[in-house]
Amino acid sequence: MKNKNFEFLITGGGIAGLMMAFHLRKAGKSFLVIDNKLAQSSSKIAAGMFNPISGKRMSVNWKAEELLAQLHKDFIEMESLLGANYLVHANILQAFGNVKESNDFMARLDFPAFKQYVDADTMKTCALRNEFGIFEVIGSGWVKTAEWINAFQTFLENEGCFIQDQFKWDEILKAEENWQWKDYQFENIISCEGYQYDQNPYFNWLPFKLCKGQVLLIDCKGLNEKYILKRGVYLVHQYDTIYKVGASYEWDFEDAEPNAAGKETLIEKVKQMIELPFEVIDHLAGIRPTTRDRAAILGQHPTVSNLYIFNGLGTKGMLQAPFLAAHLSKYILEKETLYKDVDLKRFYQFYANGH
Ligand SMILES: Cc1cc2nc3c(=O)[nH]c(=O)nc-3n(C[C@H](O)[C@H](O)[C@H](O)COP(=O)(O)OP(=O)(O)OC[C@H]3O[C@@H](n4cnc5c(N)ncnc54)[C@H](O)[C@@H]3O)c2cc1C
Repeated sequence: MKNKNFEFLITGGGIAGLMMAFHLRKAGKSFLVIDNKLAQSSSKIAAGMFNPISGKRMSVNWKAEELLAQLHKDFIEMESLLGANYLVHANILQAFGNVKESNDFMARLDFPAFKQYVDADTMKTCALRNEFGIFEVIGSGWVKTAEWINAFQTFLENEGCFIQDQFKWDEILKAEENWQWKDYQFENIISCEGYQYDQNPYFNWLPFKLCKGQVLLIDCKGLNEKYILKRGVYLVHQYDTIYKVGASYEWDFEDAEPNAAGKETLIEKVKQMIELPFEVIDHLAGIRPTTRDRAAILGQHPTVSNLYIFNGLGTKGMLQAPFLAAHLSKYILEKETLYKDVDLKRFYQFYANGH
């Protein structure tokens, strides 16, 4: 008979939920992941890039060194568990869009924290239009996210800790200390529902500011590039002559579907980036769970002590999820203090105001 009593229920099996499952499994905890296997979840359409330098101002990411270290450590273990490789080491070759960008970059080289991640004198040549010069980002790469998600979900399913289902919050009962759903019992719940957080009555008060993104898959036969190319958008080699192009950042949107305007914008950006002919073979869209202050959200519900959240990974799910899942796991299991920047407590006032 199947075990139906678990220490943890994880609602949502995207990057957040699966990294959480990975860390609970390592800690020897029992858990069940419920995921509806939405075909175009943010996690599945993401390019899965990790880049320690981000934004127009090219700042070094919060805790970049620790985030990168945990990502590499976890994927070495994950790959041995699943028997396949998902993490691709690929530095980014990035072209400046204008003289100002190039000057700003040169000024930032005075900061050792920034300088350690870039090579300003790269001798690499590439297909990028680069009239203002290029630089290389060291230590970047990407994870074959959709492949990893499918493989890890199947692995967990075989271990009896994953089911495909639509979890409905009005079907769960709080029975004394535990949660009861259908004929399952859980001691705790960790909510990892991405942009669908608003379906969860316990966390729908959080100040998310969602951001839609569209990507293309293109076939560019003349391009032979294993580096990630970036100028406005990125081009990431997938297989053969197929590349992923992305992404758009849409803060006002009506639905989660790919649309003609998004496609045209991305096509134009590719034309500004490379001079080679290409053919669009697919076009996808997803919604990033971005927060008002652009930082992730982890922690304990303000009034329900056995309910947690791991969400708000925004534009950088792959870089952040391994470190933050390990962090939340230690917070729950070992009472480690959460970093203030990501602690749900910073938003408790919204709960107080709304309840
Ligand atoms: C176009 C685009 C490109 C991106 N590129 C990158 C990139 O290169 N690098 C990077 O690091 N990040 C990238 N991101 C961001 C990244 O995708 C997100 O940060 C990350 O995927 C968020 O993961 P998540 O698990 O929190 O949410 P999601 O991916 O939304 O996963 C949540 C899962 O839970 C399921 N779910 C939700 N509610 C329920 C329920 N009630 N019952 C059952 N299942 C449920 C959902 O269907 C989904 O499967 C990109 C995003 C987009 C849109």
